[in-house]
Amino acid sequence: MQDNRRDFSDNEKMLLFNEVDGHCPICGDTLSHKKKGSIYRTFDIAHIYPANPRPEEVKILENELLLSSDVNDLKNVIAVCKKCHKIFDTPRTVEEYQKWYRLKLRLIQDAEIKNTYQLFNIESEIKTILENLNNPNFEDELISLNYESLKIDEKTNSTLPFIIKRTIKRDVVDYFDFIKKLFIEINKTNPYKFETLASQIKGFYFKCMQINQSQEYIYNTLVDWLCIKTDNYSKRACEIVIAYFIQDCEVFS
Ligand SMILES: [Zn+2]
Repeated sequence: MQDNRRDFSDNEKMLLFNEVDGHCPICGDTLSHKKKGSIYRTFDIAHIYPANPRPEEVKILENELLLSSDVNDLKNVIAVCKKCHKIFDTPRTVEEYQKWYRLKLRLIQDAEIKNTYQLFNIESEIKTILENLNNPNFEDELISLNYESLKIDEKTNSTLPFIIKRTIKRDVVDYFDFIKKLFIEINKTNPYKFETLASQIKGFYFKCMQINQSQEYIYNTLVDWLCIKTDNYSKRACEIVIAYFIQDCEVFS
């Protein structure tokens, strides 16, 4: 029988290894080992849709979405440990196919959005907000917002899990008033600084929407981006700032 598999180059293998951060995305095992001073790769490149599907596999996968029309495209392969690869292939199941499909799709989308980070900057004044949120001297200035003024319910949909929505609501209630005052102060010395920051966040929000419109994905991606753009100062503070912009109409509008 004809074998449709192709050999992958060292650079392609490196990309696939990096895509999963050097660990099997199914079981977490490391995908390299060190012996006598050298490092060796210990992984397989698994086809998600099989390269040489048997007739029964074609049948069970006939209604499934494909990551690429070319089985050897990097979009249809993933670095995994040899054991997980074997289990995935024998016997093939629709449930595992769907799980691996979603996993790889997420990795593709993560890479796509990260490749745009350098195009979407945010001005450094946002760091002032993060630092003030982290300053215990301001604790007395935190005035809770009335739950009735929350706009989160009307702006969110079923793609946002309850636990994230609850966190966003609590962050808005706890910090909205405080952050608003900080922005007013910033605008006094730097006119239109708030508007600039808001439009930068909105610009990246639209970029996320081009890739995946799930609100869970958008929220997590906005937080990760802001965290990277502010030198990983505080992920928690970034969550609070993103919650602010959700309430303030820039995000999820
Ligand atoms: Zn594994």
